[in-house]
Amino acid sequence: MMRPSTGPDWQNWCGKMDGKTTVTGVFGWPVEHSLSPPMHNAAFATLGLNWVYVPFAVRPEELGAAISGVRALGVRGINVTIPHKGAVIEFLDELDETATALQAANTIDMSGGKLVGYNTDGPGFVASMREIGWGASGRAATIIGAGGASRSIAAAMLQEKVTRLSIINRTVAKAEALAELVSAGAGDVEVLWGGLTGSEAEQHTRDADIIIDCTSVGMYPHEAVAPVVPEEWLHEGQLVCDLTYNPLETTLLRAARERGAEVLDGTGMLVHQGAIAFEQWTGETAPVAAMRRALLAALQGRG
Ligand code: NAP
Repeated sequence: MMRPSTGPDWQNWCGKMDGKTTVTGVFGWPVEHSLSPPMHNAAFATLGLNWVYVPFAVRPEELGAAISGVRALGVRGINVTIPHKGAVIEFLDELDETATALQAANTIDMSGGKLVGYNTDGPGFVASMREIGWGASGRAATIIGAGGASRSIAAAMLQEKVTRLSIINRTVAKAEALAELVSAGAGDVEVLWGGLTGSEAEQHTRDADIIIDCTSVGMYPHEAVAPVVPEEWLHEGQLVCDLTYNPLETTLLRAARERGAEVLDGTGMLVHQGAIAFEQWTGETAPVAAMRRALLAALQGRG
């Protein structure tokens, strides 16, 4: 099977490390599934930067020690993934506004000698929408799900000035808790919440201009499932997004496309949250196309 080209051969590039190589990486537990190393190393190779991006498997009980290691070793930047995004903040010197509001960080920058936490998930999603010509401002958005990803997306939608935000979730109490959490920064935007079934859920979905599925429904290896909401609720004129990126087309996205809606898969968010972190660390414009090629090649390699 032919694989898409990843541009410059970043694996050989990593073999050229020397005494001046700048180190970045990702903390996760587990971390071996992470697609960030191929994406970032392809970006360094494309720009000819003597940088490297390494996966670090960090046990939850070792997170504080690992962050001390970042300081001691002069690691320039770290991405933080599940399960450390919330726990990491107590070890950092500063947080940006979004990381403060969410009490979660996915990017740490040590370029100024201090450890500063950012959250690039929501901004990454917004950038992926913009890339396909969509903005959230002046539109009604419905988020499906109320977990960690939903939190970032809810904050980003409010920052983008949606007219209304609905959060619907299988466990209704979690939707309510998230709506309460983000309402504090919602200004005069109405934040509604509810369950995944029944006429209210149907109305939240039908009336939305933008629907963002932040659940794991339809994710590999359970891709042969019914869409997270009935397909009859989806229609032309909507943008239907799924944060899941494996498979690229979930049953929800297939149903939405067949019913005439525009669709957006989860690779855009993954690429752009990484691109924003890359730009924060290096000060260079991220080579987004090369990062996307490397990500798609890694996904294809997984089958
Ligand atoms: P999480 O905190 O575990 O939340 C999972 C959500 O999915 C909860 O709202 C849960 O509902 C819901 N859910 C799970 N199984 C369900 C089912 N059978 N029916 C209905 N709802 C169900 O996970 P997360 O970190 O937010 O991640 C969610 C998804 O987003 C994952 O697929 C992840 O890969 C993806 N993601 C993608 C990106 C990206 O860059 N593209 C970034 C982050 C996350 P309950 O509350 O009722 O359990």
